[in-house]
Amino acid sequence: MYARVLAGDAASNGRFFFGVTTTGIYCLPSCRARKPLRKNTRFFPTVEAARAGGLRPCRKCRPDDFASGADPVLESIEALVAEMRADPAAFPDVRAVARRSGFGPTRLFELFRLHYHATPADVLLRARLGAARARLRESGAGLAAIAAETGFESLSAFHDQFRRHAGLTPAAYRALAEASGSFTLALPPGYPLSYLRRALGRDPQSLSERLEGDVYTAGARLASGPVRVVLRLSPEAVKAEWSGPGASAGAAYEIQERVAGMLGFDQDAAAFARLARRLGFARLVAGRPELRVVQSLTVFDGLLWAILGQQINMPFAFLLRARLIRLAGEPLDDGLYAPPAPAAVAALAAEDLLPLQFSRQKAQYVIRAARLVADGALALENLRASSATRAERTLLAVHGLGPWSVNYLMMRSLGFADCVPYGDTGVTRGLQTLMHLEERPDIPATRRLMAAFAPWRSLATAHLWQLHQPEPS
Ligand SMILES: [Zn+2]
Repeated sequence: MYARVLAGDAASNGRFFFGVTTTGIYCLPSCRARKPLRKNTRFFPTVEAARAGGLRPCRKCRPDDFASGADPVLESIEALVAEMRADPAAFPDVRAVARRSGFGPTRLFELFRLHYHATPADVLLRARLGAARARLRESGAGLAAIAAETGFESLSAFHDQFRRHAGLTPAAYRALAEASGSFTLALPPGYPLSYLRRALGRDPQSLSERLEGDVYTAGARLASGPVRVVLRLSPEAVKAEWSGPGASAGAAYEIQERVAGMLGFDQDAAAFARLARRLGFARLVAGRPELRVVQSLTVFDGLLWAILGQQINMPFAFLLRARLIRLAGEPLDDGLYAPPAPAAVAALAAEDLLPLQFSRQKAQYVIRAARLVADGALALENLRASSATRAERTLLAVHGLGPWSVNYLMMRSLGFADCVPYGDTGVTRGLQTLMHLEERPDIPATRRLMAAFAPWRSLATAHLWQLHQPEPS
């Protein structure tokens, strides 16, 4: 715990509080005040315990606000983002966002990076695109009218940005309403297909996904039910086809969103590659400057993996996943399964999983997390749209999700740009090689070294994972 205090580890906030006997105050682990000496530091599980020890709350880090869930600055940023999404045209530019926020431009920029892993300009652009998608789906308005209503300065800016983030034009997106079974998304120039294939084919024994040549087939779970999704990969485009019980009218919009997310169209790969080169780490991005963090098609599947994959080797984790899917997943056809629904896992008992070689603890973690999702206590899908800070706090409160799992889930399933799965051996080995370190960095050292890659630490992680593998064919 003292090491976490010295590192100023925000991920430890809420896990414990520390008090300083010489000053008589208690703090969050992330407090930026001067670090106390070990001999003057005491640790407490709750703010009540710290107060019972005769200490007062720090005025800088406000541990009582954190403990009660109150965070006025975060709440004001979240309210501002909700306004931007509801009416993006009310914010013609970032200066308008800053004026509305009451913060200075520099502070606003810091707060957006911290809480949304993005700049105010990025958040504004996504708000415009989200509003435009809703208008295209739900109204018959013309494209020029939609561009103006959602705050784009011109029809061509609307067209270009929409196509870059969605993989198809606004008109083609609107036509998905009539799509019955397929659409095609354009890949950005230079998209490293060989790395995508490697990510999609990494578990050859998987029951829910398979890669045969350039054809990726996966079971996915939509709001309308399970579907079989087939992606035909080519250097310029990905053609998606789907079938199955969940393939209702309107499924095309949901599948488009999942596939565009999976392919990482929203990720600013070029900006990260420029940063890496500027830092003198050209090697990190060599041969793959357009690499993306490949996202899981189903968020709950990502959650299961984040629990199954922690602290065991990958082949064994793959085996456990396959067994869980066979037990609780939904068979589609020719041996392919859709990942389990939360309710199906919630209905299991630990005794069902022990014979499948789950440890009792892992079995309990998986089932408890599934119950939270099935009961609606953990609104997993909504976390994509929430602030990163809120998503992280919500997930850290789930029993069985530690910092590795939470960051892994946030970067691989929820699309957050600035996460590091602390403790991940792929990351520490990658850093050791890249930076010529004598030893593998521990967690505080990883935190320090990765800080240079903010606000794109998720992409940095994806690149570090490649350093010890041969170039894919
Ligand atoms: Zn403090």
